[in-house]
Amino acid sequence: MPEGDAVLRTARRLHAALAGAPITTWDLRWPSVATSDQRGAVTVEVVARGKHLLHRLDRGITLHTHLRMDGSWRVRAPGPPVRDPWARAVVGAPGAVAVGRRLGLVELVRTSDEHRVVGHLGPDLLDPDFDADEALARLRSTPQRPLGETLLDQRVMAGLGTMWASEALHAAALGPLTTVADADARDRLGALVGDARTILVAAVDGPGRSTYRVRARAGAPPPAEHRVYGKAGQPCPRCGATVRSVEVGQAPTARTLQWCPRCQV
Ligand SMILES: [Zn+2]
Repeated sequence: MPEGDAVLRTARRLHAALAGAPITTWDLRWPSVATSDQRGAVTVEVVARGKHLLHRLDRGITLHTHLRMDGSWRVRAPGPPVRDPWARAVVGAPGAVAVGRRLGLVELVRTSDEHRVVGHLGPDLLDPDFDADEALARLRSTPQRPLGETLLDQRVMAGLGTMWASEALHAAALGPLTTVADADARDRLGALVGDARTILVAAVDGPGRSTYRVRARAGAPPPAEHRVYGKAGQPCPRCGATVRSVEVGQAPTARTLQWCPRCQV
């Protein structure tokens, strides 16, 4: 699943391709918005909020999309009509066409009503004005909840998925099953939030990130930057114990993290 860093890179790519130009192609292949036509509107900006993409038009309309598990946006040169069966949104300007593939959500909202679709999100770890105090307050609101599950909850902090949550917990030497209250009693919550932010910010411009999932599917090892994610069965780079997988959260939304049971406590 694309995490906050990948979504932010996608927003930047879409913004660079479309902002400031009139829309010449508008084709939403999504039942609830299939009849909408925003040709002639100008793209004001494309921004990321957590894992959500907000494409704002000068008509006061926002195209809201979410990549969910397998979605992506690709930008290509203008050309013949898009015949890709996985295309769920096609937005074109004179110089570029953006194709949203396998999107998990496509909807239109008034720009002034964006809070209805992203207002539930906790502080965005990639926001330059990230509010760490607010993130800590939201963490502490569920003291008995395990850290792994809590970090993945976008209402607490926005941006982390299983990959960077695993890495943040390892960096902070905290276990995914350790409760918020336990970590707080040891005065470690602030460090965890700081590590999560540092890791996600670094990932935005880090090497090899965008190709990670492709390489993972091909059976290649993850980039060296990963210390525990995708490394179950291998030695922990910090203490040498065997990295394990653990399920966090409740079915059907349970997710799998990797961690070192010896040095993450
Ligand atoms: Zn270890």
